[in-house]
Amino acid sequence: MTSPFLLSTWSFSEPILESEYPNLSAGCSALDAVEACVRNAEQDESIDSVGFGGLPDRNGNCTFDAMVMTSPSSSGAVCGIERHLHPVSIARLVMEKTNHTLLAGTLADDFADSHAMESANILAHTSEQKWESWKKRSRDTKPLAPFDHGHGQLFGSHDTIGTIALDSHGTLAGACSTSGMAWKVPGRVGDSPIVGHGLYVDPKRGAATGTGHGELISGVNGAFLVVDLMGRGATPLEAIHETLDRIVSCWDIKKEYQVAFIATTPEGKFAGGALRAGFKYAMCNSDGCIVKDPELVMLD
Ligand code: ASP
Repeated sequence: MTSPFLLSTWSFSEPILESEYPNLSAGCSALDAVEACVRNAEQDESIDSVGFGGLPDRNGNCTFDAMVMTSPSSSGAVCGIERHLHPVSIARLVMEKTNHTLLAGTLADDFADSHAMESANILAHTSEQKWESWKKRSRDTKPLAPFDHGHGQLFGSHDTIGTIALDSHGTLAGACSTSGMAWKVPGRVGDSPIVGHGLYVDPKRGAATGTGHGELISGVNGAFLVVDLMGRGATPLEAIHETLDRIVSCWDIKKEYQVAFIATTPEGKFAGGALRAGFKYAMCNSDGCIVKDPELVMLD
């Protein structure tokens, strides 16, 4: 019997993990737990970077990306979802009901319809208002680096929920969901729904998920790299450090850039690290739930 735990990006996750932890400790699977946590964030309109309430692209249209993963041979993802409120559950359907890993755009919405998932308007009125005011301010304003002020207060224009669970059977699972970067070029897809970019889970090596500028994470296959380094003997902290180093060495890091990872070994040794100050993550185990500062901040 392993001691189960939940790990998730950003402080807004903490109450979500707290509400789901009793189910996990009562024997619910890691996969059910991560899906439930992410669904919870997707339906919370106050989180303006995930699901309903997420910020739209520069034309004012919202699209969602999500992924679930339990091993290299078991993952599912969707990108560019336009009319369903729970992309993480469509991702799980892709994993469980098809031989594929990624479905895109309106055809992914059609796939969800074919599995009787209810469609909905995914653009919240508050998101539309924020888009209107962005349009008036300046269409060239860049998305700000996300900064977590704690107590669910986030400033910035994008942040993915990435959640990892280890259940009482010692099984790992991960899920992530995002509305992507605010004011993105229509059609843009970030790291979140790509296996090994925004999320990677390998029962033998561990699990990692990322948040922040998807283009930087994708450029180094970030989550895969963190997990692969752990498989070669690095601690979660060393693996995140080396991955962030790789990003810093590849990109001209602008002040609006942020990237952060959380990672765990299969045994549950975990860490978080970020390029810049302002990232926090949440953790729940049998001792309780806490919001943590990352163990590593590379710059600033
Ligand atoms: N990584 C996500 C993306 O680029 C957004 C974020 O986590 O901030 O789509």
